[in-house]
This record gives sequence, structure tokens and C-alpha cells, in this order.
Amino acid sequence: MKALSTRILPIFLLVALAYHSQAQRTCGTVALQHFSKSPQEVARSNEAFEQWLAEKKATFYQNNSGTQQLNETTVYQIPVVVHVIHTGEAEGAGYNIPDEQIFAQIEVLNRDYRRLNADTSQTPATFKPVAADIGFEFVLAKRDPQGLPTNGITRTNGNRTDWSLADNSTLKSLAYWPADDYLNIWVAPLTSGLLGWAEFPTSDIIDGVNEVANNNALTDGVVITTQAFGSSEFYPQGNYKANFDLGRTATHEIGHFFGLRHISGDGGCNVDDFVQDTPPTSNYYTGCPAPGSFTYSCNAEESMFMNFMEYVNDDCMNLFSLGQKERMVIVVNNSPRRASLLTSLALQEPPVLDLAATDIVAPASGICAMQVQPAVQLSNTGTDTIRSAKVQLAVNNNLVEELTFSLNLAINQDTVVYFSNLSLTEYGDLVFSVNITAVNDSTDALSGNNQLSKTVFRPQVFTSFAEDFTTWPNTWSVRSEALVAQYNYLRAPYYDLDNTAAVLTYYQNFTPYNDQLISPVIDLSGYSKPYLLFDYAYAEIGYYDDALAVVVSFDCGNSFADTLFYKKGKELATTEYPVNFIPSGPRDWQRVALDLSAYKSSLIQLAFVGRSDGGNNIYLDNLMLQEGDYTDVALKGMVNPTGAYATATGQAQVVVENSGTTPIDNLTLATYANGNLLATSNLTGLGLLPGTRTQIAVPLPATAGQYQLQIEVATADDNPENDKLITSVNLLDDAELIPFRERFNEGQITGNWSMASEIDSTTWAIWPGSDTYLYYNAYAQG
Ligand SMILES: [Zn+2]
Repeated sequence: MKALSTRILPIFLLVALAYHSQAQRTCGTVALQHFSKSPQEVARSNEAFEQWLAEKKATFYQNNSGTQQLNETTVYQIPVVVHVIHTGEAEGAGYNIPDEQIFAQIEVLNRDYRRLNADTSQTPATFKPVAADIGFEFVLAKRDPQGLPTNGITRTNGNRTDWSLADNSTLKSLAYWPADDYLNIWVAPLTSGLLGWAEFPTSDIIDGVNEVANNNALTDGVVITTQAFGSSEFYPQGNYKANFDLGRTATHEIGHFFGLRHISGDGGCNVDDFVQDTPPTSNYYTGCPAPGSFTYSCNAEESMFMNFMEYVNDDCMNLFSLGQKERMVIVVNNSPRRASLLTSLALQEPPVLDLAATDIVAPASGICAMQVQPAVQLSNTGTDTIRSAKVQLAVNNNLVEELTFSLNLAINQDTVVYFSNLSLTEYGDLVFSVNITAVNDSTDALSGNNQLSKTVFRPQVFTSFAEDFTTWPNTWSVRSEALVAQYNYLRAPYYDLDNTAAVLTYYQNFTPYNDQLISPVIDLSGYSKPYLLFDYAYAEIGYYDDALAVVVSFDCGNSFADTLFYKKGKELATTEYPVNFIPSGPRDWQRVALDLSAYKSSLIQLAFVGRSDGGNNIYLDNLMLQEGDYTDVALKGMVNPTGAYATATGQAQVVVENSGTTPIDNLTLATYANGNLLATSNLTGLGLLPGTRTQIAVPLPATAGQYQLQIEVATADDNPENDKLITSVNLLDDAELIPFRERFNEGQITGNWSMASEIDSTTWAIWPGSDTYLYYNAYAQG
């Protein structure tokens, strides 16, 4: 049908789904689109897809090659995997349908899509000229995703009989083969009446605007209810649903999979199926309409209700049109996960003789030993037994050893083979590679899976380090789960404007993977009180939780067991900066000391681990290993953020942090008001442990007024940068009425305030909680 508007009417559609009695066809494909998207999003997706398809169509008809293709029929082979989702029956029983029923379904598809179906004779004379041989041939996969021989059928106990559209992901996660290489068909008992559903193809637009392109590969494919899968014509022993026993549900759903819509366009006469030669209709035809029916015709012309994309019974449908063929052929040539099916290895017979190198088991990613014994896993990916393999080992492209291993590997088996011990002399990145050069004294079928390489890092051992990133350190390594490691080496002003630092470039970078900067191996055996000092700078942008951690490894960087430091977002911030942060000077940096004395007799590695939330850059500098005690008292601010105090209180609370590595017992604070020493506070017996905070009372001037208050750590420590706090305080006389200030912090209305009301004197109340405030309780006051 052809019409002007592309809008879909979801209400019409949902009503159609709900009111179909079980005797009529129910297809969930369009409803699935609406399941997780608003009608606007579906409309936008569909429009974007149609626009993309229109462009591909224009290309298709260039040089008349499209016309030629449609007239002559190119045969396209489609690799299929059928996942039978049963309820625990033996193979061949109940929902665990036999192979023969599956073969019968494939036979139906191969007839319907080549117009070899026996009922082509039922196609009305009106439509015979546009009836099409689509040219699709469906082939049960010959190789599984590992390249091993298969019959293209998997069987899984799904343990339920009421799968629905809501279970789309759950159902498909039970069994799935990569949708780039297989048309996945899940055959499962669906909830009452539902025959099946498909996922539409996607365009190859990947600009993020087009939702169609965002469809999930892991759910791509077709679902058919068990009793509508197969054919009573080719496998009469099957247990089929009445009227849907000829395998046409799969024909219909696979039509959707290749981009076809229902003939009615799932709307009235103003909604299109984007096919020229299917006459427009206003509704679905169901059951088996009388020949020549035009009940729902928009132009009082004969309806093509016998099209595979209608809602009629299996034995009343018998054709695809040329317009539908055009659409499917364009999709299979251009759409991601459709075009890639055509070159799938699953279409080819598995090789007779083939061995694959599938994993370099040893060495691990980090090696600290002087000697390693490289080991590689080999897998038989052919059909013959493998008796021997000759394998080369190279390190940094230099051939180290070539060995012939005696094996006895059957189909689908793997084994690990070992090379001789290897003494290492080089440090840094080492590339281990293996290459299978002979199998059973011959050459195997596929050379592509004979080679494998792995980059490992061999760190040097140091007894000290002081890394200031004047140049990028080649004794440190960077490891990342992301495709691109985010550690960079950039200018980052500190005391020196031209200072350089290590930077995690996280500003508007939303890849949430760990980025590790890993130290060389550090031998701490010569230390009695080792500690790590480093400086970092991070500017918070609200809501983004970029994180930084410092972790310790005892096994050459293969795992990191202890976390010494972890902060994220607001907690990590050393300053605020709305955009792409670059430190401007010392005030943007913070120094951190971490006690390493627990590892004083160990060989360890440290990793600085960043994780991006897309907020802002994190800078690291001056990483130093030190010995002894690091004392650092840091003044972190006042408890009262408004700085308004009553003279009656006589004191304020200052937050003190132990940022050093050793407990702080004694501390002297000097308090100045407007530059004059107000008091010296000598505190003893504090017992403030490293990394903890406490509040300490400092005196305030006795008379009301505005003051600049300066609090200083008078006790000498190793980091004077954070020893001074300057703040403004507003000291209020309780008797003062102007200016007045009432924060209702007492939790009740007190003091000089009173209530008067003609209605109810208790309607003003204090809202309880961390921030108390006055509110008028109008609720239920009439
Ligand atoms: Zn449908």
C-alpha cells in the first residue's frame, strides 16, 4: 500500500493485539517496537530508516543494475541457527521438537522465498504479474561461532511455557549466536495466542540520532511459537496450532527481519507499508477472506490479502510482491547484520584439517621472574583428528623456538602445549607470538587462526622512585580496558607554569573503563617506614563521578589486592572548573601521603587507576617513595558554612584532617581576628589517625561584628600548604533585632518570635530534618 503519512497509530495497534481472538494471527513485531519506545521515538526511528532505505534504493537503481537484479533474481544464502527453547523434554518430545520438524520449516522458507510453494496457483490473476521470487535460500549453519561443525540447531531448557514480548532479552539470552553471522530463530512456547515476533533491520547510520541503528545485536532475530514452527505438509507428525500449521509464521516474521511491514502499515488508509504494488488497506485481513475481497480496501480495488505479510491463515497466504522483493534485496545488501550474513563462515562446510591457536596461556600480562615457560592453547577446529602440530614461538619478532608436539585431538577438543624455559634479558613491553606452521605434517585449511600474539610487560625492579613527569616514564606502563588508554602527558601549571604531569583526559569522555598507570616493581626491603607521596588535581563538574584509586599488586601487576586510596566526584575535587580542566597553580593541587609500612619487606607494584564518568580531567604529579614519618595537619574548613555565629556561643568549629602517615596527638592552633592574635589553643591527647578528621573549637571575639578570622597550624609539619584557613565570620548579638536572622535551627519557634492567627495558631511549624525551615501547614486546614 502507498500513502502519504509515515506515522504509526499505536492505539490502533495495541487494540488490534488485544482484541485478536486466538484463532487469528497475532504478530508482535510492531508491538515490540512500541514496547520500549514512545510513539514519537518509533515514528522517528521508522522515518530515519525509510530515509536511509530511499537513499540506498537510489543507488540500487543506478546503471539499471537494480532492475536487472529484480528481474533475474540473485540467489542469497542466509545462514540460520534454530534455538529450540523447551521445558526439559527429551529431544524430539513436546516443546523439544525433533530435527525433522525444523527441516520441514526450512523447506517451507525455501519454497516461499523462491516462489516454489505449491499454492502459487491460488494467487489471484490480478496479482500474478507482481508475484516475486525473492531469491533467498535458508541454510542451517554448518559451523558454530567457534568454527566447529554443527547442524545449526541448539537446544536449551527455558523452563516455562508463557514467553512474551516482555521477555525479549531474557529468552534470547538463553541461546544466542552472533547476529552478524547467523539469523537467530528462537522456537519457544509463547504466551496465549502470540505466534511470533521479529526485530526489524537497522540502517548503518551511527550518529546516535537514529534509534534504529541502536537496536541491540544481542536480541536480533526472529521468535516463533513452537506450535507454529514446522509444517504439517512436510512433517505431519508435529503438534501444530490450527490454521498456523504450514510454517507461514516464520515466512512472515522473516519478512519483517528483512524490512517488510504489514500490508496495512499498521494504521488506516493514511499509513504506508512503503511498497508500491501492495494496494492500500485500512486494516488487517484475518482468517481466510473470500477471493476478490476488498472489505478494507482504501481505493475500492481488490486487496492483496493473500500476501505473506497479512494476518490471514497459513493456507490463505501465498506470495510476496516485486515491491517487497526490492525492499528485501536492498536490505540484505546494505543493512548491518543482514549484509554480513551473506559472507558468514557458517555457510561453508567446516574444514577437514584445521588447528587454531586460541590462547597464550603463559606468560601472564605481567612477568617479574627471570624465567618464563611460554604455553599456548591449541584447538581442533576441523573434522579430522589431529596427531601433531609444529609451532613457532617468537619474542619481539625474534624466533625463539620451533617445536613439534605429538597430540591426539578429536573434533572440538583443545589442549595446552609448553615451550622450553626462557631466560629474559629485556624489560618493558615484550610481544610473545606463536604460529602453527604444520598440522599432521601438512598445511591446515585456515591460516587465519594459526597465529596469535600477546603483549606482556616486564617491569624493572627499583628501590626508589621520584617521578615528576618531566618526560613520560618508560619504566611505568599503562594498561586500559578501553580501546584507547586515557593517560596522557600534558602541561599542568603548578609552582612552575611549564610543569608537566600525567593526565587522565576525562572531560566529556564517557568510557567507563579502568585506566591504570602501573609502577615498576618496588623493592621495599630497605625501608622501615616507607610512604608514597603524590600530588593530584581534579575539578568537579556537578553529578559526574570520575574516580581515582591507588592500588597495590603483589604478583607483578596481574592482580591488585589492596586499595590505599579511593575518591570520586565531589570527594575527589581539589577545585571547581566548569570545562576542560587545566590546573592554574598550586592552589588547584592537593598532596596525598599513603603509608606503605605494611609492605616494608615486600616487592610491590602500585597502580594509579582512573575511571571516567565524563566529568573532568584528573592530573597526577610528583609520585615519590619516601622514608620516615610524614606529618600533615590540614585545615579543611569551618563546620558552619554561613559564618554567622552568636556572641553567646563564643566559639566556632574548625575541621582538622590528619593528611599524614603518622597519628597526631598534640596540636597547636593560633586564631587571629582581623590580624590580631586572639588565642592559641594547645590540644593534647588527640589520637587523630592518618586519613581521619575531627572538629576543634576555636574562640571567637567577644563583641558582635564582622571579622576576618585566620586559623593557623602553629605546630610545624611536612606540608605547610594546607595549614592556614582564612574565613569571614559574622558575630551576632542575640539581642540585636536589625539585622535579624532566624534559621530555625532549634527545631521549634522560640525567642522573639510569636504566632497569631484567626484560624489556627499552630499552622506555622518547623520542618524537621537536616535543614530545618519554617513552613505554613495548609494541608487539611479546610
Ligand atoms: Zn507481522
